[in-house]
Amino acid sequence: MAPLLALQEDLEELRQTFRSGATRNVAWRKAQLRSLVKLLREQEEQIFAVLHEDLGKHRIEAYRDEVGVLLKSLNHALSNVEKWMAPKKGQLPLVFFPATSEVVPEPLGLVLIFSSWNFPLGVTLEPLIGAISAGCTAVIKPSEHAPATSSFLAKAFPRYMDTKAIKVIEGGVTEAEHLLEQKWDKIFFTGSTQVGRIIMSAAAKHLTPVTLELGGKCPVVFDSGLSSSDREMAVKRIVSGKWGCCTGQACLAVDYLLVEEKLASTLIDLLKKSIKGLYGENPAESRTIAKIVNKHHFKRLRRILEEPGVSASVVHGGSVDEEKQLIEPTILLDPPQASELMTEEIFGPLLPIITLKNIQESIEFINSKPKPLAIYVFTKDEMLKRQVLSETSSGSVTFNDVLIHYLAEELPFGGVGESGIGSYHGKFSFDTFSHQKAVLRRRFFMEPPARYPPWNDYKLKFIRLLYHFDYFGLLLLLTGLKR
Ligand code: NAD
Repeated sequence: MAPLLALQEDLEELRQTFRSGATRNVAWRKAQLRSLVKLLREQEEQIFAVLHEDLGKHRIEAYRDEVGVLLKSLNHALSNVEKWMAPKKGQLPLVFFPATSEVVPEPLGLVLIFSSWNFPLGVTLEPLIGAISAGCTAVIKPSEHAPATSSFLAKAFPRYMDTKAIKVIEGGVTEAEHLLEQKWDKIFFTGSTQVGRIIMSAAAKHLTPVTLELGGKCPVVFDSGLSSSDREMAVKRIVSGKWGCCTGQACLAVDYLLVEEKLASTLIDLLKKSIKGLYGENPAESRTIAKIVNKHHFKRLRRILEEPGVSASVVHGGSVDEEKQLIEPTILLDPPQASELMTEEIFGPLLPIITLKNIQESIEFINSKPKPLAIYVFTKDEMLKRQVLSETSSGSVTFNDVLIHYLAEELPFGGVGESGIGSYHGKFSFDTFSHQKAVLRRRFFMEPPARYPPWNDYKLKFIRLLYHFDYFGLLLLLTGLKR
């Protein structure tokens, strides 16, 4: 069978399942969420193996950042899905009297989920939890650059999930393009800003709504006012968030660090000490640091590092091992602003430090670049905190830590501007895949004549008052009835 014909048949089956109403049933939603829990629990060892094969991820990192996060999200969805599905009663002003209203969440329909390779399980299944909770049918297309994980999902899903409602379609750009030609009720995309633009223009053809979870350059602002013990804890968090989370190949990874000139050398010493403490003398041999995903990205990072002004700014690390696709944790001091290192998302183990005369300048520096997915600020200065919140724009702001807001189901996760459109996690995932349907119920009595022509000045006065003075609304309504 020609692949395109098979795709059409698959999509028709998914549409029929949605039309049948099966996925709207809370029992179906919970059963699928439970099956996903079962898959993650029973296949944990296999998952660790494929994540290691694709990215060299340590099993603890794989549990901390992917399997464990997903189980946490699944349990949260299982405990809350009925509450999320319940219609919410609305308050109507007297102008509608007598009437009641509610907001009913309804599933959007058949949705497409594209994901990236860096958390190939997490960013594929996390949105799926939202799609299932909302009662949608779905196609997931994992990244071709994490082939072991993609193939694992394609083989495991038919054993655990309802494949009449959820299908895994594997492939690269060609398959992605075929998928984008189809009509979807929602496209949820995790990936680069560049491909995000392609997704959005394809979606526009069918007026399909999109959620775009993109990347960018996430800065750290490091204030000089911290005590030495706070500095040490801050640096440990930065080091683990940069190099201990897929070697900096994370949308939320620290991209660059802003610090006052007077603190730069102390900070570099602390970073070196912390890298040694967490990953030993030879991090490449530590087996706790993930590899660069493929030759293409390895060469991209090496090219960035070898740019003349950039290589001259290396103050720690810099060695590369092409065979093992490893790059040493590398710190650079004041590299050229026009270099690729400083104009593009790094997405790797290179950490530029930019020195400023005054920490307040960090606001202007951040604002000179596209809006980031996250800003991290290490400070106890309340004024600086307020300034960052009110004078910059980003998907999120975390004070005195990095990355961990990803774990909070109560917080929306997403970007703004070039770092993304829309958000998810917890109830926000449910909302992302739902339409909020407005329902108004009226009765057949109380008809104020002022609603209808023939018009006169009294009717205008009456409508004006009714719209703006609800306290008197009922009284006026009754008066209006008499005329
Ligand atoms: P990518 O944009 O290259 O690929 C993402 C997905 O799009 C893949 O499934 C891929 O097959 C598909 N794709 C690639 N080219 C396409 C095309 N021309 N037409 C249609 N589909 C196409 O991204 P990546 O390299 O896999 O991931 C890295 C990027 O993802 C980084 O920018 C990172 O910041 C971002 N990211 C964001 C988040 C987030 O939650 N915001 C999470 C992880 C990664």
